[in-house]
Order: sequence, then C-alpha cells, then structure tokens
Amino acid sequence: MKNRILLRTNLLICAILLIGFLLTALLSYRANYSAAIENIEQVSTLTSEGIYTQINSIFTKPVNISMTMANDSLLKTLLSKEREGPDDEAFLEPLKQYLNAYRLKYGYDSVFLVSTATGRYYHFNGFDRYLAPDDPENSWCYNLLDDPREFALNVDNDEVAGAGQQLTIFVNCKILDDEGEIQGLIGVGLRIDGLQTMLSDYKDEFGVNAYLIDGNGTIQVSDDHSGHDALSLFEIDRYSEEVQRRILDWNETGSARSFWVPDETGAPQSNYVIVRYLPDPDWHLVVERDTGALMQELNLHMAQTVLIILAIIVVILFIVSYTVRNFNRQIVTLARTFAYEKYALFEKATEELYENIYELDITHNRPANSATEAYFTSLGAPAGTPFDSALHIIAAKQVKEEFRQGYIATFSPENVLRAYASGQDTLRYDLMISSGGQDYYWMRITARIVRCESDGAIHMLTYRQNIDAEKRQERRLRELAQADETTGLLTRSAIQRLGEQLLSEKSAAIYAFFLCDIDNFKQANDKFGHDYGDSVIRAFAHTMQGQFQQDNILGRLGGDEFAALVPIPAGHGAEWATEKANALSGALRFLYGEEDRAWAVSASIGVALANADTAGFDDLYKRAEHALYQTKKRGRDGFTIAPPTADHDERTDKDGS
Ligand code: GH3
Ligand code: MG
Repeated sequence: MKNRILLRTNLLICAILLIGFLLTALLSYRANYSAAIENIEQVSTLTSEGIYTQINSIFTKPVNISMTMANDSLLKTLLSKEREGPDDEAFLEPLKQYLNAYRLKYGYDSVFLVSTATGRYYHFNGFDRYLAPDDPENSWCYNLLDDPREFALNVDNDEVAGAGQQLTIFVNCKILDDEGEIQGLIGVGLRIDGLQTMLSDYKDEFGVNAYLIDGNGTIQVSDDHSGHDALSLFEIDRYSEEVQRRILDWNETGSARSFWVPDETGAPQSNYVIVRYLPDPDWHLVVERDTGALMQELNLHMAQTVLIILAIIVVILFIVSYTVRNFNRQIVTLARTFAYEKYALFEKATEELYENIYELDITHNRPANSATEAYFTSLGAPAGTPFDSALHIIAAKQVKEEFRQGYIATFSPENVLRAYASGQDTLRYDLMISSGGQDYYWMRITARIVRCESDGAIHMLTYRQNIDAEKRQERRLRELAQADETTGLLTRSAIQRLGEQLLSEKSAAIYAFFLCDIDNFKQANDKFGHDYGDSVIRAFAHTMQGQFQQDNILGRLGGDEFAALVPIPAGHGAEWATEKANALSGALRFLYGEEDRAWAVSASIGVALANADTAGFDDLYKRAEHALYQTKKRGRDGFTIAPPTADHDERTDKDGS
C-alpha cells in the first residue's frame, strides 16, 4: 500500500517534470530553428553578394582589356602582316612584344592571339600551336567563331607549352575588320585556382556552396570543379525541373532570386538557394546552404537537453523517494512506538482481567505476533507451526479431556472463518485448563474476529480469563438452590431429581430408600414453640447425616419428614436394609434438650428397596410411604420394610417392640 502511494507520487512528479521540461525544450527547439533558418537566409544572402561582387571585379577587368585589345588598330595592322610571313621575325617579334606588354602590365597568366586565316595560336612567347578545327580541345575557338556574341569566357587547361595544363579562365574576344569579318580572337587567361580558393574559404567560413554555372547548368567554377570536368550542377543537386528552370531563367543583374528547396522527405526547408546573374560571362552564380548541419546541431542539442532532463528527473525521483521513505520510516517508527505504548498500557490495564491475549492470522493459519509465537513455542509447537496444528498441541497439553473437542471445534480456522462470514465477530468457550496436566481450573476464552486493515487478512484476538472463582460461586449457588434452608440437606425436588437420575442408570446395584417421620412432632411445637421445633428438626437432620455416607442422597422432604436413598453394598441384600433401618431407628431415638425443655425424639421409618427392574422413583416413594404409614399405625418408633411389589404385604418390625 505504502509502496503504491510512493510509486504514484513518483509517477506524478515524473509526468509533471517531463511535460514541463519537454515543453520548454520543444519551445526552445522551435525558437532555435526559426533563428537558425533566418540566420541561414541572411548569411547566404550576404555571402552571395560578397562572392558576386568579387567575381564581377575579377571578370570585368579582363573583359575590358580584351575588348580594348580586340579593337586596337595596332593589333589589327599587326595581324594583317601575318599573310606576308607568319614565321617572319617582322611579324612575330612585334606581336610577342605586344602580347607580353599586356601580360606584364596586368599580371595575367596568359595573353594570346588566334588567327582565323591560319588557325595559328600565338602568345607572349610567340607561335604556340595550330588549332585544328576537328580537335574537340579547340571547340572553344570554333564555337565562338560561330557564335553571334562578341566575346565569351571559357574554363580550360592552359595548353600553352610550359603552362603546365593549369586550369584557366580564358576571355576570348573577336577581332573584326572594317567589313565586320572575324580576323581572329584575342584574349587573356587567368588561373582559376585563386577563385576556387576564394569559394573554398567562403564554404569553410559560412558553410555555403557556391557555383558558377553556364546557361546549361554546367559547373564552370566551384571550389572543387571546373568547366573542364563538364559536370552539371544538377547531377550534384537533384533539383526538380521547376527548380532548375528557376535557376537558369534568372537574368536580372541588379538583384538575386532566392528560395527554399524542399527535400525528398517533404521537409519544406532543406536547401536555401540564391541565384545571381553574371552578364559578362553569361553565367549564374548559385549559392546554396542546406539545413543538414543545422538540423544535426539542433538534434544534438535536443538530445543533450533530453538527456539532461532525464538525469534531472532521475535525481529528483531519487531525492523524493529517499525523503518520502525516510519520512515514512519515521512515521512508522512513531506509530509503532505509540502502538507499543498503547498496547503496554492496555495489557497492564487488562492483565488482572485476562491471563493472556494472543493474536492469530486466521487467513494465513499462523500466529500474528511474536508473543503468540513464543507462547506456541513454549508449548512445544516450534516456530512456523501452523495455527491449526498448534491448536491441537495446546488442547493436548493444557485442556481437560472432555473440553478438548469443543475447544478445537470452536477455534479452528474453518470455524472462525465460517463465523466471521455469517456476521459473528465473537466466539466464546468455557473450559477447564491446567498448566501442568493437573489442578484444572476454569478458563473462559473469548475471541474477537477482525479484518486486518493492512493486508485484509482475518485475525483473531483471544483473551483468556480465569473464571474459576466465578464457576465455584456458581456451583455454590446451584447447590444452595437444592438445599433445604433449615437443615442444609437436599430439598424434596432435589431428592426426586437425583433419585430418578440414579435409578435411571440401571446399574446392577440394589438401593434402599428410607423414609423417616418424627413422631408426634406437633407436640414439640405446641409445647416449646416453633423455634424449638426447628431445633429438633436440625438435630434430627444431623443425626440422619451421621447415619449415611457423604455421597448418599439425603434430604428433607418437608415438615418433619426425611428421606435417604442409598445403594446396598455389594454382596448384601434386603437384610442389610433391615439392619440399617434398625440402626437408624435406634439412632433417631434420643432426648433432645434438657430438664424441663427436654423432649424425647423418635421416628417412624418406612423402607422400600429398588433394583434395575423397579418401576421408578415415584413407585419407590409410594411403597416407602405406605411402609411408614404401617409403622405409624403400629404405634410409631420403629420401621417397616415394604415388600418388593406393591401388594402392601409389609414385613414390619419395631425397634424395642
Ligand atoms: P405423627 O406422629 O402422626 O407424625 O404426628 P405429628 O404430630 O408429627 O403430626 P404430623 O407429622 O402430621 O405433623 C407435622 C407437624 O410439623 C405439622 C406442623 O405444624 C409441624 N411442622 C411442619 N414443618 C415445621 C417446621 O418447619 N418447623 C416447626 N417448628 N414445625 C413444623
Ligand atoms: Mg410427624
């Protein structure tokens, strides 16, 4: 019960803390997410502006310089001299000087000239190679010749001897004569490794990927790719056609197009894309930043938060459990102390009333406390003996034989449970008990049956009360009820009841019934008064008592009439009754009182015999009464033995007659 309450409390605390913490964590997660999204948009926008500005400044100058050279009449004149001898020093030397002067002045990696007429490629060191039209490596040249544009940019290996095939952006400008015919191409080349490093720096610092792509989506420059790879951006980013279109369609120079691209899982914000248009190379700058790293960071943060929450909850639950358990322990200790004190007081108060109080757990058939168990052990029922077995041991050791069955039947677990089920909460049994197997005394065992609140088991509390004195008093009272007040002998009804009981036992014994009546008793009353008469009666009773055994049935039938029913000793017959009647008659003949208050007492006696065949006490009485009548009739102070049957043929005798 206690543990259930603790568990419920802990679960409640756990739920409150969990809900509170999780709500806080969720709100913080959402706030962080929104801030991060905003941050991505701002950083990406600023980054794209930065890259755009730098690239513009990188490209604008070489385009301008190339255009300047393409329109330079000096160059055109120089080129026209090629026809006179392409390998002549007069042509080559000034051309070399011209190209080298530009290279040195602006610090380009390459300054070159292509002649349309001869397909010869010149650079600042002189003639380099022929550009065969069918070689795909030279497509940049022949494609531009077919292109209406005035100039174009392309990224390629620098194939000039000694250039080490390094990736270079070439600005190629058409040289037109006065008729508008293409005489050749002039341009400059600059290594793109510097550009790639710049994009790589942006990537490292701001987490953005930046690409320069042409109108087909082919990457011309990124931190790790170049146009030479002929790789499409959309092979890296599997954008939908709609997204591809939105990127490639953008051709405004002053502003940018930005949007979020959802991912395959449907999350609306997966990749932030900013597109800017670079008109001079006719390329697009695409700057991207995905939320992968952000989500990873947020998820990590969330996981850390949840772990911290769980750790805090575990600590709080531990503290709460520890505190509650401690508190409970203190309460239980206090309650126990209080209960023990109460129990001690109760025991003290009742120790005079009850010998012992024991408690049994009837449901589990065992003693309910150590005192009860110790009591069982003292009687030879070792610890762990079931209660019903202990009951038999107690019965055998302490309870007088005739009470054992009743004792076990009353307090057996089955009877206790049956009684409780029928609404009875008290059981009582009076029995004779002894501690050493002798000197039995009366004991009353009262049992209260209760349901134990803590575990729902049925308990029985037994109180043992010594009622020996009470029982003795009761017996005295019972004896008084059947004693004659004047003489202390049995009353008429007692004689009748005991007589009937004795005769009904149908034993082999023969009984003699003596009926005695004081002769002329009225005279004693008349002469000396009623009190004197009472004294005579008491003296007569006392004399009779002296004539019989303690356990003989002896009583006063009323007035001056007495009776005794005695068994004739074994081996004797009717003669014993005659002798006894004679002796009795003699004993009852005495002088009571002294001098002028002396009165001569004598009795008339009627005797009847009874055996197993006799009809009953009433018949016996009638026969004795008739015999008595016969004695009176004969003159009193004697006895008459009634015949065995009621034919009134008495055998009479009279003492002294
Ligand atoms: P009998 O020889 O025929 O027996 O003559 P009796 O005078 O004894 O007459 P009976 O036995 O018939 O009468 C008994 C008398 O005893 C009658 C009554 O007044 C007297 N008596 C009865 N009970 C008591 C008693 O408790 N105390 C006294 N003092 N007298 C009693
Ligand atoms: Mg009489």
